[in-house]
Amino acid sequence: MPSTKYIFVTGGVTSSLGKGIVSASLATLLQSRGYSVTIQKLDPYINIDPGTLNPYEHGECFVTNDGAETDLDLGHYERFLNRPTSQSNNVTTGRIYQSVIDKERRGDFLGKTVQVIPHITDEIKRRIQILGNTGEFEIVITEIGGTVGDIEALPYIETVRQLKWELGEDCIVIHLTLIPFLAATGELKTKPTQHSVKSLQESGIQPDILVCRCEHPIGEDIRHKLALFCNVKKEAVIESIDAETIYAVPILMRNQRLDEVVLQRLDLPIEDNLDLVNWKDFLYKLKYPKYEVEIGLIGKYVELRDSYKSIAEAFIHAGAANECKVNIRWIHSENISNESADKHLKDLDGILVAPGFGERGFEGKLETIRYARENKIPFLGVCLGMQAAVIEFSRNVLGWKDAHSTEMNPKTKHPVIDLMEEQKKVEDMGGTMRLGANDCELLEGSLIAGVYKRSMISERHRHRYEFNNKYLKDMEKNGLIASGRNPELGLVEIVELKDHPWFVGVQFHPEYKSTVANPHPLFVKFVEAAGKKAASS
Ligand code: GLN
Repeated sequence: MPSTKYIFVTGGVTSSLGKGIVSASLATLLQSRGYSVTIQKLDPYINIDPGTLNPYEHGECFVTNDGAETDLDLGHYERFLNRPTSQSNNVTTGRIYQSVIDKERRGDFLGKTVQVIPHITDEIKRRIQILGNTGEFEIVITEIGGTVGDIEALPYIETVRQLKWELGEDCIVIHLTLIPFLAATGELKTKPTQHSVKSLQESGIQPDILVCRCEHPIGEDIRHKLALFCNVKKEAVIESIDAETIYAVPILMRNQRLDEVVLQRLDLPIEDNLDLVNWKDFLYKLKYPKYEVEIGLIGKYVELRDSYKSIAEAFIHAGAANECKVNIRWIHSENISNESADKHLKDLDGILVAPGFGERGFEGKLETIRYARENKIPFLGVCLGMQAAVIEFSRNVLGWKDAHSTEMNPKTKHPVIDLMEEQKKVEDMGGTMRLGANDCELLEGSLIAGVYKRSMISERHRHRYEFNNKYLKDMEKNGLIASGRNPELGLVEIVELKDHPWFVGVQFHPEYKSTVANPHPLFVKFVEAAGKKAASS
């Protein structure tokens, strides 16, 4: 097999320019030409992984099949490529230093002084090449988090310099930068980009391609100027104009021939085999929906929507599958009380209670679920949302007024959600939850079995607390159905309600597995149920 090709994506001028989306879009184009591609994210922060981070810091924590808690960009990679990622696809500075320090303690460095160059950079290099060395991928795209010039990013930039030198033709660098528009003079300005490229050059890296994020088209003159000042070919100056949806970015990149410029630089054949038919079909459905539904997303981090990124994206996929536009009403659970529930929740066609941790806003989630249950509004509870559904049922149907999760009330007489035995001994917070893919057996004839159309599924988990089987019988007698169980652990993973048109709580996170090519059936059917509700009201 020919050697793996490496593409590095760096960012300049500001953060949040969409490196993740540009990387995913390029990968989509290359994959649509038949290349096997994966994308990796290097995060310069010191945390070992984002698992212990508050969502307000970096948004949602994405979870892979192998149970890695990762940056949310990995969610985009999977949604665009329809291919699972793993722990190797996300590396942080914390993880790099931890490996190097572990080696030092073992005496692996044989008395040498351990330094950023070569020891840290060697470890970064090793992590970058792990994916290439599997032999599974022809092209590995590595996105470097942060912005060129950040102190934290220096070892990564230095590693890119070394790899570019070592790999020669097999490695290119794409620099994503901002071309601001000065409204007062009506001009697009290239100077920040020139400075940012200079800063890369000072680190010994000449970018091969510039992707220019802009609000207005950049035109021939700007292309010419950037090519001249930054030592890149004119056709390698790519415009990345603000798009209506992130899913349109591959098409915008294609119109600029980014894929061809990349393949040419990497000396890979450009055949006439680009297949974007399904992608364009998806975009068409997104653009021309036949009807709309309004779904409430009730959570406590709604001010930062990135906290629920995968859920919001799963609704986009499910909407397109139903040829319907899903309008999400973002509702703060702290605002919901028995008195205010009607004001916030009436007119909704569906209600999703989001995952989460801790006490804040929890009572509002319970009131929301009571409202959905009593008013027969299609309901989907995800992780904490499922646990809350069990607590609500225990309190308001079974009459156990103090029912709770021991996460919020360790002293409750009715711990309907409780820690598993093996979790009771756990002291560390990082990486110790039930994480990653678990099998789940579905109850024949249940609503959920109809949703998935099979009897065994695998879904990803990220939680510490579980349904307490001690109370299952009482609940079942009163109309709760445990319709999904973990075959090895016997844990209840899915609950439904008998007297309700569409009420599902899942202990796992279905949103992590929804992709453009494979919209998640649970979201597809939930949106369909919301559509029926909308049509009947
Ligand atoms: N806090 C709950 C638990 O740890 C639910 C976690 C979640 O929603 N991801 O079990």
